[in-house]
Amino acid sequence: MSRSIVQIVEPQYVIEGADVLLRRSFGPRRSNDYDPFLLFDHFAFNDPVEGPIQGFPMHPHRGIETVTYILDGSVHHRDSLGNAGLIGPGDVQWMTSGRGIMHEELPRRGPTGSIAGFQLWVNLPAALKMTTPRYQGISASTIPAAQRDGATIRVVAGEVDGVHGPVTEIAADPIYLDVSLKAGAAWACPVPRAHTALAYVFEGSGCFGPEETPVEAVRMIVFDDGDQLEVRSDSGVRFMLMAGKPIREPIAPYGPFVMNTNAEIQQALQELRNGTFIKA
Ligand code: MN
Repeated sequence: MSRSIVQIVEPQYVIEGADVLLRRSFGPRRSNDYDPFLLFDHFAFNDPVEGPIQGFPMHPHRGIETVTYILDGSVHHRDSLGNAGLIGPGDVQWMTSGRGIMHEELPRRGPTGSIAGFQLWVNLPAALKMTTPRYQGISASTIPAAQRDGATIRVVAGEVDGVHGPVTEIAADPIYLDVSLKAGAAWACPVPRAHTALAYVFEGSGCFGPEETPVEAVRMIVFDDGDQLEVRSDSGVRFMLMAGKPIREPIAPYGPFVMNTNAEIQQALQELRNGTFIKA
């Protein structure tokens, strides 16, 4: 059964970190509407007269995974585990914060003068919220693409036409794809029943679902249940497709932390204050 659209979200401008202007489709809320996904931010700076972009100076995370996908420019990254590096165009960083990391994320302009990309937050189940932190750093050249009839699909996580994404062993069993359709192309993709499915349309426009609802960039589409997702485009479209297994646990979000209870949030804040947040 093809998935219908239940909601189309218009991303809202928000300021985060040190004066970073973002388009946020949704953020962490107790209602947990897009379980297992907690947040989707789109950052895009292309005004050459903008001042320097500071980005996100050292900050903690606990209880979640943050997924950074860069389209243009780069993000310089450094963390409490001793990792440091540049996430460049087409690269992905899938960070499992578990019990805690401190990191900084500093956007840098590319040769064109612009910076663009996405950050997705994925929830962790209670049993993994305090797991050992880890990173999967994936360079653009190792992300495979599936090609079919005018559709090109970069597979970050999950599987398309036998092409498997390099990100594995994630609790939410996610699909994360960068899908480009040429003008006149149509595409359908199996998505496991009962998994949450979202599409962030960021270039062009397409007709989504069995009702062929037209959606133009930039919008987040929320799909109803079903076992496949359909899209076609007259003029070309590009979107991020994400799907994942709902965790179905209560959540207590607080800034960069998402835990299950308020007491766990208080504990994280206490550990930050007394210097025991990062464990060797
Ligand atoms: Mn962060």
